Amino acid sequence: MDATEYIWMDGDLVPWDEAQVHVLSHGLHYGTGAFEGIRAYKTETGTEVFRLTDHIDRLARSAKALGIPFEYTVPELVEVCKEVMRVNGLQSGYIRPVTFYGTGSIGLNPAAANVHMIIAAWEWGAYLGEEGVKNGIRVAVSSWRRIESNASMPDAKGTGGYINSVLAKTAALKAGYDEAILLNQAGLVAEGSGENMFIVRKGIVHTPPNSAGALDGITRDSVYTLLAEDGYTIKETAITRTDLYYADEVFLTGTAAEVTPVREVDDRPVGDGKPGPVTKRAQELFMGTVTGKLDLHPEWLEYI
Ligand code: PMP
Repeated sequence: MDATEYIWMDGDLVPWDEAQVHVLSHGLHYGTGAFEGIRAYKTETGTEVFRLTDHIDRLARSAKALGIPFEYTVPELVEVCKEVMRVNGLQSGYIRPVTFYGTGSIGLNPAAANVHMIIAAWEWGAYLGEEGVKNGIRVAVSSWRRIESNASMPDAKGTGGYINSVLAKTAALKAGYDEAILLNQAGLVAEGSGENMFIVRKGIVHTPPNSAGALDGITRDSVYTLLAEDGYTIKETAITRTDLYYADEVFLTGTAAEVTPVREVDDRPVGDGKPGPVTKRAQELFMGTVTGKLDLHPEWLEYI
């Protein structure tokens, strides 16, 4: 990660190296925080932050679900994200807002702790690699199960929940794969460690519902909408591990990963082992939209 000049922290722009918190911060000990990952793209008419308001809305929802006081309005934070892009001279990049409990309580009850909000931004290329975006990645079903609604909240972007994703991701990398696929406790496909999942079989596109343990992904919603409007039949369905092996195409979606084809699942080639036509169309529609080359959903582009 290349440092930029400023990070916004609790109302002020502070130099990157000075944006620090105390070692006894509650969020550091217990993962009591919520965060977002947002991408900004350079277009012919300026820099746009893709579905920025939807991301900040989700941050507010996650904080609400986790019981973290949220002192800002969505429009205020939308403006801060744009300002962080501008003051750092970024024309494209990744924006990371995080809210978390700081000091004031070290027991489990965070009520007496203060709440921080920081927003940072930096340049970031393809999360799963340029080569992966072009030719597809190799994934493996993880032995780690996706966090369960009875124990936590898979559909809230809480910092503590990500230990689950980190365990799955690092195990997959150690075993020589590019990404992990997490099943839920019932054995159904939930998602990747930081991406939603789509499969294509006999021309029909499927993606697991949030109730399977998937995050309500904004890229997922965008791709779902774009493919449906392009004439594809697309459904939210329960997906089994075997469905992954029988799929003609598999791809992952996420702010960081954008639309990344999967060429192998558990050492079995997906289709003929190359990105298929629906995956390529999803990439075209999504990348065309975010870069303003396709004028399909101008309301998703929030210019800085
Ligand atoms: N699932 C998980 C666990 C994630 O961390 C992400 C990234 N936020 C996604 C799915 C994809 O969501 P989005 O398209 O909103 O980035």
